[in-house]
Amino acid sequence: MSHDNNSTNSTVPSNFLRGIIDSDIASAKYAHRSDAQGKALPTVITRFPPEPNGYLHIGHAKSICLNFGLARDYAGRCHLRFDDTNPTKEDQEYVDTIIDSVQWLGYDWKHEGVTHLHYASDYFDQLYQMAEWLITAGHAYVDSQSADDMAANRGSFSEPGKNSPFRDRPAEESLALFRRMKAGECKDGEHIVRAKIDMASPNMNMRDPAIYRIRHAHHHRTGDKWCIYPMYDYTHPISDALENITHSFCTLEFQDHRPFYDWILERLTEGGFFKKPLPHQYEFARLNLTYAITSKRKLLQLVEEKIVDGWDDPRMPTIVGIRRRGYTPEAIQLFAERIGVAKADSWIDMSTLEGALRDDLDPKAARLVAVLNPLKLIIDNFSETASEDCTAPVHPHHPERGNRHFKLSRELWIEAEDFMEVPSKGYFRLFPGNKVRLRYGFVVECTGCDKDANGNVIAVHCNYLADSKSGTEGSANYKVKGNIHWVSAAHAVEAEVRLYDRLFSDAHPDAGGKDFKQALNADSKTVVTAYCESGAELAQPDEKFQFERHGYFVADRLDSKAGKPVFNRITTLKDSWTSK
Ligand code: ATP
Ligand code: MG
Repeated sequence: MSHDNNSTNSTVPSNFLRGIIDSDIASAKYAHRSDAQGKALPTVITRFPPEPNGYLHIGHAKSICLNFGLARDYAGRCHLRFDDTNPTKEDQEYVDTIIDSVQWLGYDWKHEGVTHLHYASDYFDQLYQMAEWLITAGHAYVDSQSADDMAANRGSFSEPGKNSPFRDRPAEESLALFRRMKAGECKDGEHIVRAKIDMASPNMNMRDPAIYRIRHAHHHRTGDKWCIYPMYDYTHPISDALENITHSFCTLEFQDHRPFYDWILERLTEGGFFKKPLPHQYEFARLNLTYAITSKRKLLQLVEEKIVDGWDDPRMPTIVGIRRRGYTPEAIQLFAERIGVAKADSWIDMSTLEGALRDDLDPKAARLVAVLNPLKLIIDNFSETASEDCTAPVHPHHPERGNRHFKLSRELWIEAEDFMEVPSKGYFRLFPGNKVRLRYGFVVECTGCDKDANGNVIAVHCNYLADSKSGTEGSANYKVKGNIHWVSAAHAVEAEVRLYDRLFSDAHPDAGGKDFKQALNADSKTVVTAYCESGAELAQPDEKFQFERHGYFVADRLDSKAGKPVFNRITTLKDSWTSK
């Protein structure tokens, strides 16, 4: 395949979109184009076109990885374009977070020194000129029906629509009205510009779709310059053509919009605005992720009703949320590669995303011990004043990364679940009379426990076997089944640990019109005070660790401070959900 030469990752599985690009390259469809300055254009130019009306989520990440990834693999370029044609819903805040999220995911829109950051609003003048031409050429008209009449005359899936009484008004009359609309002489909704196609088309999108509407609203970039705004379906193909896009990838719901995409570009090519080959739209299946919702409107509801702690709550499927949770860009790219692209909608299990995170972090994350649910373990035969140096590898498979050093002393913290006064069948951790190894330390034999007045275990007692230390000759003489982690109470670093879990306990929280708020997981966030191995206090914001036996954790990028670390659980070591 031609792209393998310049691909950064030739093991990327093929998919039907790559197949399309390969065949376009084979037929040299986009091979001989040049830009306005006469410079040769790449044969693959894609774009990611968000509307700046909300935060990006994991579904957008799929589209970002796809568009930017294909451009990279085919030595083309990908534009970041804001589809900002709806002034009342859009805001600079969203523009900023989207730029930040795409960059964080590892992509940029620079190609051969040129920045391809675009805004549909930059094309408002051209879009307007083209609409004037369409009216003049008889391909569009100003409709002055009321909104109700327009809706009634649109017909339905089973019935054709009816022509507007204004459909055949002379072009000059439409043009004069359009100019008055632009000049601010008309009220919102008084007139609308429509493409003149076919009110009887079986495709509702071809029944004279609106291309311009009046909206007296302030735009976050063009201010009050305009009081008419182009419709999305009109703007999108034109923006693609103006930017010399070759492959315009979008989600399946736009399939029925493609005939209009093609229609508008054909007419404007006839009008001399564009040259062939034109951009082509292809649809792929959107990402639906179990245990998550990806509707911007519903995500907004979670934020506004304070069900979560903001857009970047680590339980949110927003990019700012999963970033804060501790996901890496590499894990998300790996996820996007693994799920691939399909032509039919399907559900991807959350465990696929978590699996990608584990596979990315396992070889990278430094190991650390943290006790999340502490119980005191007292080594009665260990001196009160002594301590023992212990070592453990920073990473078990990377000896070159060196060792961690920490102390063992008489009083330790262990996990409460690592002791049972009366062991259940198959339990081989601490119980009276049993021996376990304190990981990287000694073998100890449990002698009993202390309880409070209510019978709760408050401390466990044991004796250590002085010749059993890990890494010494004697250690081989002890064969024990249990191997538990611990931190020295005198040396432990206290940390706030936020144990995050899936936000929803239902795999399809909003399927079939269900109320997703009924599906919230009551245990999606638990905050504990943990005791960590010394060194944890040095964690840098965003630094990731594997807490031995517990999973992957990150120092919270906002709240973690030197000396006072705060950790988020990204995910557990193993998937505990699929068996639920
Ligand atoms: P809206 O309802 O506001 O249009 P949207 O999720 O479609 O919401 P856009 O900003 O229009 O948001 O999306 C930008 C791009 O991301 C589009 O090309 C869209 O097809 C793609 N996209 C959105 N959601 C998903 C998803 N779940 N999976 C894959 N791609 C998606
Ligand atoms: Mg959209």
